[in-house]
Amino acid sequence: MARDRLSLGASTRAVHSGERQRRLGDAVTVPVYQTSTYAFESTQQLIDFKEGRIEKGEYGRYGNPTVRKAEQKIAELDHAQDAILWASGMCAMTSLLLTILQTGQHMIITSDSYRRTQQFCSGMLRRFGIDVSVVPPGDPHAIEAAVYPNTRLILTESPTNPFLYVIDLEKLAEIGKRHRIRTVIDSTLAAPYNQNPLDFGIDLVMHSATKYLAGHNDLLAGVVVGKAGMIDALRESQGILGGITDPNSAYLLLRGLKSFALRMAQHNANGAALAAFLESHPKVRRVYYPGLKSHPSHAVARAQMRGFGGLVSFELDATMAQAGAFIDALELPYMAPSLGGVESLVEQPAIVSYYEMAPEERQKIGISDSLVRYAAGIEDTDDLLTDVEQALKVLG
Ligand code: PLP
Repeated sequence: MARDRLSLGASTRAVHSGERQRRLGDAVTVPVYQTSTYAFESTQQLIDFKEGRIEKGEYGRYGNPTVRKAEQKIAELDHAQDAILWASGMCAMTSLLLTILQTGQHMIITSDSYRRTQQFCSGMLRRFGIDVSVVPPGDPHAIEAAVYPNTRLILTESPTNPFLYVIDLEKLAEIGKRHRIRTVIDSTLAAPYNQNPLDFGIDLVMHSATKYLAGHNDLLAGVVVGKAGMIDALRESQGILGGITDPNSAYLLLRGLKSFALRMAQHNANGAALAAFLESHPKVRRVYYPGLKSHPSHAVARAQMRGFGGLVSFELDATMAQAGAFIDALELPYMAPSLGGVESLVEQPAIVSYYEMAPEERQKIGISDSLVRYAAGIEDTDDLLTDVEQALKVLG
């Protein structure tokens, strides 16, 4: 946009960024460019394109105008030079790691992270001869202690999933710079409304755009934001790896993003109210929410985040079956994995994500039988609280 983009408010950027351009028929909205390829007028135009004299579409795996608009909007929301969209959050993460890391190198990941990311690093990357150290979340000292001469990348979620530990982003960026190691934050649980890790010196930020960015539980996408040169390198590798976003999904993402700031304010309000209510309830053993003073990451979170999101994890004073009965008694949230959409979702991680794991193994990583992960949507706060209160009555 003409004005300095950072002087505009979050809602203005969510509505307008990446979009102000004359369109066919003076349409206000970005159309879905449903095409797999782009035509050249002449051999001369093709040569001009190959020699970088003109910019235009070439083939669907190398770019699409609808996708590009969504990338530009997200880049502006996360204070980045550029962004690249992928078919899903996992596609973004795995492609990023495959692009940066080489055989013989080492990376560091934190333990409380999305299970599939951990599986990719500790399983698949090790198969390619890339060494992986797993350290506790939210602890820059543990990260620095795990640095080897061949360490090339540090990856952590912030907040982590499901216990919402927050890393001191400035300290992490400083460790990365001192050791010449790339720092990558999976910022899915914060979204660009609540934090902008690049402002703290982090190199690359990844989001599962499936969550708060798209916001309507209706599509899968992933995005990486950062300096233009790094995003160019990822774009080159996307041409090879092929994990592009479909233009229809990009349209829905653009549409969902227009209400991003409004939605985030309500997710934040609902998350904070639920966390406070649950913490005061006698049937709740422990609540994990970085906005609560009782969370070990509270001070760091307050210093670097604008809000704490809609995700609240809590342990009930209950058996696995009783926790299930509580979830069954909830009337508003859907019982489903995921988070960040307008509809509240609830899940019991011991059953949804860790069912195949032996109970002792689950305990070791802190996933207790009565752990509940509640992803507050944008419903009215009082309605969510009343619903949780009535459902807790099944515990006596
Ligand atoms: N990172 C985090 C923190 C997530 O919660 C998820 C999905 O649940 C992912 C990455 C993967 O994203 P996607 O489901 O879009 O592939």
